[in-house]
Amino acid sequence: MAGGRRPTVRSRPRVPDMSQPQSVGVSNSRNPTRPVRIGSVTIGHDHPIMLQSMCATRTADVEATVAQVERLAGAGAGLVRIAVDTRGDAEALEEIRRRTDANLAVDLQENYRLAADVAPLVDKIRYNPGHLFHHERQRPWQEKVRFLVDTAGEHDCAIRVGVNCGSVDPAKREKYAAGDSIGPLLESALEHCDLLDRLGFTRYCVSLKDSDPAAVVDVNRRFALERPDVPLHLGVTEAGMPPEGIVKTRRALGQLLRRGIGDTIRVSLTVPATEKHREIEAGRQILADVAAGHIDDEQDAGPRGLDIISCPSCSRVENEAFVVLAQQVREATRYAAEYPITIAVMGCRVNGPGETDDADLGLWCGPNFVNLKRGGAPLGAFSYEEILSRMKEELDTLIAALPPCGS
Ligand code: SF4
Repeated sequence: MAGGRRPTVRSRPRVPDMSQPQSVGVSNSRNPTRPVRIGSVTIGHDHPIMLQSMCATRTADVEATVAQVERLAGAGAGLVRIAVDTRGDAEALEEIRRRTDANLAVDLQENYRLAADVAPLVDKIRYNPGHLFHHERQRPWQEKVRFLVDTAGEHDCAIRVGVNCGSVDPAKREKYAAGDSIGPLLESALEHCDLLDRLGFTRYCVSLKDSDPAAVVDVNRRFALERPDVPLHLGVTEAGMPPEGIVKTRRALGQLLRRGIGDTIRVSLTVPATEKHREIEAGRQILADVAAGHIDDEQDAGPRGLDIISCPSCSRVENEAFVVLAQQVREATRYAAEYPITIAVMGCRVNGPGETDDADLGLWCGPNFVNLKRGGAPLGAFSYEEILSRMKEELDTLIAALPPCGS
């Protein structure tokens, strides 16, 4: 694709009025984070908390992706993220850029070099430190970050360092006890901040995400203590389907926002692609509740029974049936509601294996089959027709090994 300057049609700022009320009553006690401009919006201490979301359409489907970007921006998203994994996606992004003036972020996985193709087209690059190890293994990660920084600087892009519990830097994971999910995330984020600082790049924010709301609160509070100057993007990864996914996100983000932590938020919900604007609506409600003082520390308590975590899907989802599958898993397991069991349902083979590691039962989609594992051990791949009954067999085995409900 052409790698020249952005072929933009963006002559007017795209900051929907609907995104403004969320800062009311929240900003007075905000952490003193520095301003970071992302296209036509700026996040940081003196700026409204920005709502954002991500497209769940196939990036190569330009019509559907542009429609979703516009729907999200119209709902109040100050920034819309799009996954780019291939040069075909990058070429599609060029056409998407021509057709919308919304602020766009690109989500990169292992192939960090695609940044050079897409940076002229977007306003922010998100990279995951845990993904910098899979591609060009001999090349030090520091050199890869330098490449991303140079690319972002050349094309007027901000950066998000997005660390995630399911794909943490393997070297960091080895340094900490098996049960310590916070230490590796925190160290990885701080290490990347330190490198970006030394490279003289300050237009960045950080996200530290986990599927456990209590862990999200803990790791973000600890990060904010160490780096109160760095803007934070808050979210609970794989929060799941509404209403449970909204409840989990509200529980975590409410605790942080009321303490002045957080500059932009994303509510990740497992909903059909046509309903992604519900993420923005849910985010706005959380901000309004925080501003009104309707969130207190009582809500720190986590789920006591069955917990179903599921990804919000994105361009990488491998079967359109993913959202229906997640809903079917919830229905089929209602009888186990009181048991302290976690079931993870993910949309693809890119992140599915890692993101299901900590669950008691993990399912992740392939094109024509669903992979299943129990306690980290692979059990095989099953058709979409077979998977529910196979999963229930495993669930019943898990339940049989637990104390009876109420004991
Ligand atoms: S698990 Fe896969 S499909 Fe789901 S949000 Fe993550 S990358 Fe996208």
